[in-house]
Amino acid sequence: NTFKELGLNNDLLQAITDLGFETPSEVQDKAIPILLNEDTDLVALAQTGTGKTAAFGFPMLQKINVESRTTQGLILSPTRELCLQITNEMKLYGKHLKGLNVVAIYGGASITEQAREVKRGAQIIVATPGRMKDMISRNLVDISKIEYSVLDEADEMLNMGFFEDITDILSHTPKDKNTWLFSATMPKEVSVIAKKFMNNPIEITV
Ligand code: AMP
Repeated sequence: NTFKELGLNNDLLQAITDLGFETPSEVQDKAIPILLNEDTDLVALAQTGTGKTAAFGFPMLQKINVESRTTQGLILSPTRELCLQITNEMKLYGKHLKGLNVVAIYGGASITEQAREVKRGAQIIVATPGRMKDMISRNLVDISKIEYSVLDEADEMLNMGFFEDITDILSHTPKDKNTWLFSATMPKEVSVIAKKFMNNPIEITV
């Protein structure tokens, strides 16, 4: 398959050309058509380095409304490094989407500055769980209109003890959103999360 055959629009295809991506990776090939065409939850077993950021990033970028300033997509990731990396990739993938704002929220940096960025209107927030929970409890962010949430490296987030924070964060999001979970491994804790937060997820493995 080509990226065009997966159903991506011209703005995203242009970014893909700019980046020099030639063919979709396996996880992209499997996940992108599902996420674009079906209103479904998804569990994807995929290691880092497989192109999973684009596998959830392209569909999210295509589905959100960039003319609205409402926060529609939330990506949770275990570490500050990963959070910044995902944010950068989302900005590159969405560089031809006028008005797109992707904001990173993570600990160890100014919460005031992050709140200011959110206030300007972020359609997509990429966050680590601790800081995200903190910003919610201080009313610095509104995720009540989220349509798409991603739990990236779910196994790592659970290993790092973020179960409670994730539960708290997701309790502030609508029940009818779609949740896309990516994990390198599928220990019992991840299945528990999948059962607790997801609705008949489609499962893919790469
Ligand atoms: P990830 O697994 O999302 O961390 O991606 C690993 C690296 O592969 C990142 O630097 C991406 O920019 C790059 N990448 C993602 N998809 C493709 C693709 N289809 N072709 C070439 N490079 C890609």
